Amino acid sequence: MENRPVRVRFAPSPTGPLHIGGVRTALYNYLFARQHGGKMILRIEDTDQTRFVPGAEAYIVEAFQWLGIQFDEGVHIGGSYGPYRQSDRKDLYRQYADYLITHGWAYYAFDTPEALDAKRKEFEAEKRTFQYDCTTRSMMANSISLGIEEAQRRIASGQPYVVRFQFPENIDITVHDLIRGEVTMNSRLLDDKVLFKSDGMPTYHLANIVDDHLMEITHVIRGEEWLPSAPLHVMLYQAFGWQAPEFAHLPLLLKPEGNGKLSKRDGDRLGFPVFPLEWHDPKSGETSSGYREQGYLPQAVVNMLALLGWHPETDQELFTLDELTAQFSIGHISKNGAKFNVDKARWFQHEYFQKLPLSEVADMLEAQVKEHQATASRSYIEQVASLMRERITFPSELWDTCCYFFTAPTAYDPAAIKKRWKPGMTIHMAKVIDLLRTKPFEYEALHKALLDDYIAANGLNTGSIMNSLRLAVVGKTVGPDMLTLVMMLGKEETIRRVQRAIDTIGEVAE
Ligand code: GLU
Repeated sequence: MENRPVRVRFAPSPTGPLHIGGVRTALYNYLFARQHGGKMILRIEDTDQTRFVPGAEAYIVEAFQWLGIQFDEGVHIGGSYGPYRQSDRKDLYRQYADYLITHGWAYYAFDTPEALDAKRKEFEAEKRTFQYDCTTRSMMANSISLGIEEAQRRIASGQPYVVRFQFPENIDITVHDLIRGEVTMNSRLLDDKVLFKSDGMPTYHLANIVDDHLMEITHVIRGEEWLPSAPLHVMLYQAFGWQAPEFAHLPLLLKPEGNGKLSKRDGDRLGFPVFPLEWHDPKSGETSSGYREQGYLPQAVVNMLALLGWHPETDQELFTLDELTAQFSIGHISKNGAKFNVDKARWFQHEYFQKLPLSEVADMLEAQVKEHQATASRSYIEQVASLMRERITFPSELWDTCCYFFTAPTAYDPAAIKKRWKPGMTIHMAKVIDLLRTKPFEYEALHKALLDDYIAANGLNTGSIMNSLRLAVVGKTVGPDMLTLVMMLGKEETIRRVQRAIDTIGEVAE
């Protein structure tokens, strides 16, 4: 077991925007680090220059800033184990590849892409799958089959080569995983992965292990897709004689239907983002939507992601980051994939929107009121925000849901006219105006005058009259309690609106 101070890392490759599965991985690392008073590191793994995408690193940093997931060390803030970008550490990996060769854990391989392809085809013709491993390496051009002198001669003459890991034949390699228990694989099934490439750069496998060691990482918490690589990593630690970290491979984030990994296409198909922030792909020019731009609150995204794979001991669903930190445990992470649930994501968003300080909701509404060239006092805006927020999930819905508090309707819903504006309605509406003019403009007084003394006393249809009044004031049959709305709009504005509806809709035939 680990007894060193906890240090974990999130180590994305800057190959595009950060998938929310990656955000969840980072979140679990963060919670684990905080819980153990440890350190959380952001390391950029950019050794594969062919997959490098400009802007991806900045995107990653910005996404975590938005989400409130803070790192203790990393590419954007430095730290005493830097540099934290692998391309800036380029020169230090070579010596480790050399060490492995000298100690019989790795070898030089000269096979050209064409030669590898030819070998693959040869195997396919015999209905076999080619893998560069302990059973096939003798057929290939490498320092084992050719001998080290010939290999040195080729290297001296400038022939390109890679360095491959040399798995011992037929040994069982066991990965102790904190989520999955012991996972054992036989070395015969594992291919001699390339550790160092002909372009002078290490591959992910070598750089990842060297950096985890040099950065004194104690726990590697990462996606399940890396489990097949874990035996190689365990062997590399053994080969170097280094203490291996603890491993925890997180379950996949699955499509809402549960069959397969959640992809960007699922998001497009079902209308939800799979990235924290909007992303403009510099190559294709394509834009992918982001949680931030769709109006999600970072707290909602964090809470939703925390529960996709981790189960608290109680049925509590709403957690602050501090509560998550206190309750999170790797032991309660599921082995099975977690199905993404769009409705649940919206539910979290709705809940967190309700928790925002009223002044923040009012700020958002105020901005939209201005955008629509309407004016209102701050206290009125706050009143509207307080009355209406429970109907709102996303900030963008504020204006549409509340516009009639600020501007009179310019049209009336035809279906509602048909359903509610019965013959004689202009007379009832004229009566409403009359009551507004003559009765004290107070909720209770108006309620009594309209609902009891006029509607009930005359045996009139409450629904038809109140909904027609709503139609006149709002334009459609939605909104809060009718008389509350009337009180907020004020006497004159209500009268104006009702009069306008009478004039516009007019009397309808029997
Ligand atoms: N660079 C790897 C990635 O992009 C990191 C995997 C790991 O955490 O070991 O996911």
